[in-house]
Amino acid sequence: MKIAVCPGSFDPVTYGHLDIISRGAAVFDKVIVAVLHNRNKQPLFSIDERVDLLKQVTKQLSNVEVDSFNGLLIDYMKEKQAHTIIRGLRAVSDFEYEMQAASINKKLGPEVETFFMMTSNHYSYLSSSIVKEVAKYHADVTDLVPEEVADALRVKFS
Ligand code: ADP
Repeated sequence: MKIAVCPGSFDPVTYGHLDIISRGAAVFDKVIVAVLHNRNKQPLFSIDERVDLLKQVTKQLSNVEVDSFNGLLIDYMKEKQAHTIIRGLRAVSDFEYEMQAASINKKLGPEVETFFMMTSNHYSYLSSSIVKEVAKYHADVTDLVPEEVADALRVKFS
């Protein structure tokens, strides 16, 4: 079984993430969406809230699981017996960081491959940070995130 992991912060999940997750799910037997405990970022949503939102918005994708992890991605990959990392690329600005991450992951776990998917054009501008910025000022985010996420943002910023 070809298992892929789609790691990220997902603070919160956007239509851009969902695009990558659903396209990944069409290629691999199973996709594990893994929310990373990142101590360098001050999140808006807790890990549990992010996992819960991801579960709600991926429930129609039967081969997608949602989980969270601490520590090194490569250790998590081994634990899950997954050999592919899925990452999305939006713009050239993503490239430098992604190249570094893919290189270090290759060094730490040579059996693991990183697969990059180009974002669909209409999501190339979309990030969790932009969504939070827009939602903070109570502007409409319904084109950017699923309804469940828009509701959760409304509650956070109310
Ligand atoms: P991280 O902090 O690890 O970058 P993110 O939650 O920002 O976590 O992103 C997780 C993954 O989703 C990354 O591979 C990122 O490139 C991808 N991604 C985020 N937004 C989009 C988008 N609009 N289109 C395509 N991929 C995206």
